[in-house]
Amino acid sequence: MKVYDRLDRQYEKFSGEYQSAALRVLNSGWYILGKELEAFEKEFAECVKGPYCVGLNSGLDALILAVRALGIGEGDEVIVPANTYIATVLGITANNAAPIFVEPDEFYNIDASKIEEAITDKTRAIMVVHLYGQAANMSEIKKIADRHNLFIIEDCAQSHTADFDGKISGTWGDVGCFSFYPTKNLGAFGDAGAVIVKDEALAEKFRALRNYGSRIKYHNEYAGVNSRLDEMQAALLRVKLSHLKELIDERVIMKEKYLQGIKNPAIILPKVRENSGHVWHLFVVRCERRNELHDYLEERGIHTQIHYPIPPHLQKCYEYLGHKKGDFPIAEKFANEVLSLPFYNGMTDEEINFVIEAVNEF
Ligand SMILES: *Cc1c(COP(=O)(O)O)cnc(C)c1O
Repeated sequence: MKVYDRLDRQYEKFSGEYQSAALRVLNSGWYILGKELEAFEKEFAECVKGPYCVGLNSGLDALILAVRALGIGEGDEVIVPANTYIATVLGITANNAAPIFVEPDEFYNIDASKIEEAITDKTRAIMVVHLYGQAANMSEIKKIADRHNLFIIEDCAQSHTADFDGKISGTWGDVGCFSFYPTKNLGAFGDAGAVIVKDEALAEKFRALRNYGSRIKYHNEYAGVNSRLDEMQAALLRVKLSHLKELIDERVIMKEKYLQGIKNPAIILPKVRENSGHVWHLFVVRCERRNELHDYLEERGIHTQIHYPIPPHLQKCYEYLGHKKGDFPIAEKFANEVLSLPFYNGMTDEEINFVIEAVNEF
């Protein structure tokens, strides 16, 4: 048996609905900024209790434009977790602002107790990432942001509908940034993203920024970009959004099987913080002999992934920041130990048990 993250299964589940949505768009004769996007924005905003959603081309665009729309740039600092995907940090550096890294806690999210010591008079925002699908400690982070008059930008690329204290991620801060990359819990069939914002004026700004900086055709208020969520992806996303709850419920059942079944003292299983919602985008375990475990599973036909092997502060592109190995030992330890087990909608019990047995025999 071969087990690896499979996207065909989640397509097959609702294939008839996807096909009719795609045909509807093809037959409509309207492919950019139309009814499907408008409907998706409304439905997604309702789903996460928005109130405003603006569809964009990708999660990275959402992060870049969020920093930009809030007026953060050269000379400003943005606090960001040291263990995150590079895109989070690119959102900051694309605007010539400086990322200030803060170590993660045992739940892999930014350690709120270490944020304040990183704040300077240049700090403008805290960029929170709800990593692997679990919401970060937002009530603490919100208190800190309020105390220091900082913006909060949330990277919700992995956390669609995950809540903290009953409030959905992406609505705690000033801008919630979403990715609909195909592998995400709410994934499109190509690139797509969105922001969630609280106020209409800011939503208007994003609508202009995504469309060359123009609200009225050929009148350009901002030097904007082309970052529009197209009608095809919007129509397909509407289908998946209508099934999102059952897709997440399925993931919750799957993670429970892993949690109950994996009994190997060499493996550290994921933990959930009190009050944190978790939508189980990834099932990430830790192991001191991670590379050995990866190779061993590969030999058995089980393909695992590493999210992420090199923390941003040690990436070549950020050499100019002047960080070195050992600067963020917890993030670096996680990068050396994490392993994401196969975990996808449509995964069968047989496949789950195959992985559990292999992991237990390691
Ligand atoms: C996927 C992801 C992104 C980037 O989203 P894209 O749509 O691929 O640009 C940003 N941050 C995190 C945490 C992600 O997982």
